[in-house]
Amino acid sequence: MVYCQYHPDRPGIGICVRCRTVICRDCCTRLDGINHCHACLRAMGDRPEAPAGHRGGQMLATAGLVALAWLTFFGSLWLVQGRWAP
Ligand SMILES: [Zn+2]
Ligand SMILES: [Zn+2]
Repeated sequence: MVYCQYHPDRPGIGICVRCRTVICRDCCTRLDGINHCHACLRAMGDRPEAPAGHRGGQMLATAGLVALAWLTFFGSLWLVQGRWAP
């Protein structure tokens, strides 16, 4: 019988995929269908793709828009040159 790392009196029902710690039902938090203990959840609290990190995504979107604008600008320049070149 395996017991929870945090609760020695409770049976372990899963293993944290990050730290391989045996965890009970109360300690287990499913994230994208994968078991995580609270220690790892806290460690992942500030990961960039979390909803809390809005600014990172916004900056990425802005960079993408700028790249698209440059592409459109140079693309049209190239088109015009191709059409009206002697
Ligand atoms: Zn863990
Ligand atoms: Zn537990």
